[in-house]
Amino acid sequence: MDEKLEIDLARLDKGGERFAGELDNAVLEMQNEKWIRPFAPLRYDVFVQVFGKELLVRGRLEQDFDAVCSRCGEDFDFTCKAEEFEVSEEVGEDVEFFDLTNRVRECIILALPNYPVCGEDCKGVCPTCGKNLNKGACECGKDDADARWAALDGFGAKE
Ligand SMILES: [Zn+2]
Ligand SMILES: [Zn+2]
Repeated sequence: MDEKLEIDLARLDKGGERFAGELDNAVLEMQNEKWIRPFAPLRYDVFVQVFGKELLVRGRLEQDFDAVCSRCGEDFDFTCKAEEFEVSEEVGEDVEFFDLTNRVRECIILALPNYPVCGEDCKGVCPTCGKNLNKGACECGKDDADARWAALDGFGAKE
């Protein structure tokens, strides 16, 4: 597995070239993150072309993560997909290699959600008792509900 994504400009096909493969996820430098951790290799599929002095890269990136849900606190896995990885950079004629690794890292990090959730329908935890509401309702608020029904019953009785 590669530890960097480097383009050999001297050998790059004039019509552009596609590079697809896997990178060691250590390139993300997220080893010390507590709530979100990459696992499995980072996957890339990019098309690289040089127009005059301009290096153009376009493609997609994917990385699997193990994260803690910001609503319910449970562990879950998700795949971060950066579908629009783009780089355009001026390169001098004397530049032989162009290292895209930092750009790849930035793109994945920008694509990550600020508050990862295990699912859009995650119910989170009850603010009163802390129970994970995805696993069933808690007892809190039950009295309120009963009181509402009681009020309705009373209303019906008056008619
Ligand atoms: Zn959740
Ligand atoms: Zn509760």
